[in-house]
Amino acid sequence: MIPITVVKVDDAAKALVNEVLDSGSLAQGRMVERLEGLVADMAGTRHAVAVGNGTLSLVAALQALGLEAGDELVTSPFTFVASVNAALLVGAKVRFADIEPDTFTLDPAKLAAVVNERTKVVMPVHLYGQMADLDGIEAALAGTEVHILEDAAQAHGATLGDRRAGSVLGSFSFYATKNVSTGEGGAVTTDDDKLADRLRLLRNQGMRRRYEYEIVGFNYRMTDLQAAIGIPQMERLGEINATRAANAARLSEGLADVEGVTPPIVAPGRGHVFHQYTVRITPDAAVSRDEAVDRLIERGIGCGIYYPRAAYDYDCYRSHPGVVIESCPEAERAAAQTLSLPVHPHLTESQLDEIVATVTDVVRGR
Ligand SMILES: *Cc1c(COP(=O)(O)O)cnc(C)c1O
Repeated sequence: MIPITVVKVDDAAKALVNEVLDSGSLAQGRMVERLEGLVADMAGTRHAVAVGNGTLSLVAALQALGLEAGDELVTSPFTFVASVNAALLVGAKVRFADIEPDTFTLDPAKLAAVVNERTKVVMPVHLYGQMADLDGIEAALAGTEVHILEDAAQAHGATLGDRRAGSVLGSFSFYATKNVSTGEGGAVTTDDDKLADRLRLLRNQGMRRRYEYEIVGFNYRMTDLQAAIGIPQMERLGEINATRAANAARLSEGLADVEGVTPPIVAPGRGHVFHQYTVRITPDAAVSRDEAVDRLIERGIGCGIYYPRAAYDYDCYRSHPGVVIESCPEAERAAAQTLSLPVHPHLTESQLDEIVATVTDVVRGR
């Protein structure tokens, strides 16, 4: 079986974890600070504030922006559900704007119909490692006070022209399978000194100094043990992403002329970091998308469906008073047609060729 993800903790991480264990201080400390420095460098921001996971980084960022009950947030319906849950947790109303069919990211042209005077945040998702069209989103929001929060959970190091993921206001995840992993972890990136200060207070029960509560906060802290695992990966991020991109290029070259499969499309100017390598199985294929997944797994090619439905298309959201549903046909079509193939940095060339050959056979009905 060629697995869709492989998690390996290298010797450098083990050494740092042991350093933390030997130090006797296991909670947030020096390692978290080191990781934050690397994350800020990646995003090109003055600040990175590390937290316990990526969902919490969305929650903390939304709270730092002052989002509260009655405010509205617009996001992509084609995402991991954390994007929606974070907004609902802070009491916001969630609306969805449909995606661009090529990049699977929020379509700026769809914003006008859903942004209104109660909209406080638009949250594009840099899905699969490709940034959403931030320039287009900013243009669509020009003249409004709406904040942009980038859900960059899948986009460590992704770029758009000379802009970097997380440079506006970013939320990253270091979940076990993300391009950089600490098991569980997350971070918010920002250039805004006041916002960063607020995030640090929110993270630590609202305390600037011990038992001096300035605001109502919570415990969003990351531990030094988590940070230690991520530091060596952050230091090698360029190499990790380059290997993913090279793997993606080999897959796309092999699948370019195969009828029934559309390889991922990278929009001009976007630097894709291939958290996922996601293809469409089109109606020209001899099998349905779901059949293709079954056949691939039978033949030892790990694959996954990210995501099988639009985020609103579940009973718990359809019946939720905080979710406004207007159907998004491109998101629904993507959810019905896509599947993701292994692209992780531990693949060999022969495994990549085996993936291409097997996908080709399967969509031809062989
Ligand atoms: C992984 C992910 C999150 C949440 O991160 P966790 O660390 O799992 O809490 C949020 N949004 C997207 C798009 C993700 O892929």
